[in-house]
Amino acid sequence: MMPVKQVLENLCHKDPRHPLYAQNYGWMEPDEIPPARTGCACDNCHTGRDALAEDLLFWFQRNAMAEDALFELAYLPNETTIDDARTLARSSILSMNGSLDRWDDPVD
Ligand SMILES: [Zn+2]
Repeated sequence: MMPVKQVLENLCHKDPRHPLYAQNYGWMEPDEIPPARTGCACDNCHTGRDALAEDLLFWFQRNAMAEDALFELAYLPNETTIDDARTLARSSILSMNGSLDRWDDPVD
């Protein structure tokens, strides 16, 4: 898997998360810095790497949230009912802005 630093290097050069942002734009007043992405022709925007990096960062974050939710589910007290566990799982998915479509059919 691509390291996070390498993903960040593929963001729009004007995105504050880009590792060289402070070096390239930190000396400018905030209202002088051109907006990231919109109308930008930096190498990463021009080649589409920025969009892919944004997608990867989104999925990295989703993966971390899913790991946290699974960890929480793994350590539920023994007396937890399956309905309570299911409610907690649904709540975790909602907190990740996920769809509940897959929960429409009962899993029994
Ligand atoms: Zn750009």
